[in-house]
Amino acid sequence: MHNLSELKSFLSNPKKIVIIPHLKPDADALGSCVGLAVLLTQLQHEVLIVSPTDYPEFLDWMTAYASVAVYDKQTTYCQEFIDKAEMVVLLDFSEENRIKPIPFEALDLPQKKSLLLDHHLGKAINTTFEHWSVKAAATAELVYDLALMLDLKHLINLPIAECLYAGMMTDTGSFKHPSTNSKVHRIVAELIEMGLESAKVHRLIYDNNSEDRLRLLGFALSERMVVLPALQTAYFTLARADLKRFKFKNGDSEGLVNYGLSIKGITIAAIFIEHPEEVRISFRSVGAFSVADLAKKHFNGGGHKNAAGGVAQKGLDDAVQLFVSLLNEYQTDELGHR
Ligand code: 5GP
Ligand code: MN
Repeated sequence: MHNLSELKSFLSNPKKIVIIPHLKPDADALGSCVGLAVLLTQLQHEVLIVSPTDYPEFLDWMTAYASVAVYDKQTTYCQEFIDKAEMVVLLDFSEENRIKPIPFEALDLPQKKSLLLDHHLGKAINTTFEHWSVKAAATAELVYDLALMLDLKHLINLPIAECLYAGMMTDTGSFKHPSTNSKVHRIVAELIEMGLESAKVHRLIYDNNSEDRLRLLGFALSERMVVLPALQTAYFTLARADLKRFKFKNGDSEGLVNYGLSIKGITIAAIFIEHPEEVRISFRSVGAFSVADLAKKHFNGGGHKNAAGGVAQKGLDDAVQLFVSLLNEYQTDELGHR
C-alpha cells in the first residue's frame, strides 16, 4: 500500500468507521468484516458492520464479536451511521452493484476516507486506501496482511483468528483449491499458535445444518442435477416450489454447486435458483475455463476465474437454455481440462 503511513496516521486517533461486505455475505466477506472490526475496536474506533442484506444463520456466531446491522432491515439506522462515518471500508467486493440494496452513492465516498480489501477480478471502485490482490485466496488473508502492515499483530485475538480462519477455510474449499498457497498455510499456522481451535470453526461452519438443508442437498443431487458429459458440465436447478418444500433460507444452497465438479470428467458446474424477482446463478470450474468471464458477459455478474455468480431476469428455463447454448458455442478444448 503506497500510502500506508497516511492510513496509520488516520487510524492513530478514534474514528467512526463503517465496514461493508457484499450482499448475502459468505464466511469470507462477513469473517473479514468482523475480524477487522474487532481489531479496530481495540484501537478505540467506533465501528459498525453494515451488511447490505441478511447473512446465513451458520455465521451467527461471528456477529457476537462485533456490531452488525442489516441495511435492508434497519435502513435508517444504517444510513445514519454511514452518513456520520469518517471512513468507509469495503470488504470482499470491487463493484458498485455488489452492495445492492445500498445505493453506492449513499456511501458518499468522495467526502470520506475509504479503504478496499478484495481479491475479486475486475476492480471498478476507487478508494483512498486499497489492498487488492487477485492472488489472495481470501479477503481474510488481506485483513491479516493489513494487521501486519499496521503493526497490530499483537492485537489479533481469538475472535479475530476464528473469523479470518473461517474466511480462508471456506474460500479455499477447505484448503483444496489451487488458490491454497503456502502463505495461507503459514497464516493458519500462526493463528493456531495463537490458540485458534481450527476444528471448532470447521464444525461451526460445516456441521451446523438444519435437517431441511441436508434433505434439500439430497433432493437436489437425486432429482435436480443434470449432467452433460459432452460439455463436461453438470448443473442444478431449484424452482420456487423446491425452495418452499425445504423451507429454504439464505445460505442453504451454499456449496451445493461444487458437487457437480466432483463427477469424473466434469469441469464446469452451475446452480440456478429461482428467487421471486430473479434467477440467481453460481458457476464453478476447474482449469482454464473462466466462469467469471461467462458470468460477466452473459449473466450481469462476475467473480473469480473458477468461482463466479450472476443473475438472469427471464426465468429458470430461459436461463438454463442460455447457459447450455453458450457452452455449446465453446470448442471442447476451451472448456478446460483436469
Ligand atoms: P457464489 O456462487 O458463492 O455466490 O459466488 C462465487 C464468487 O463469485 C464469490 O467470490 C462472489 O463474491 C462472486 N459473485 C457472486 N455473484 C456475483 C455477482 O453477481 N457479481 C459479481 N461481480 N461477483 C459475484
Ligand atoms: Mn472472498
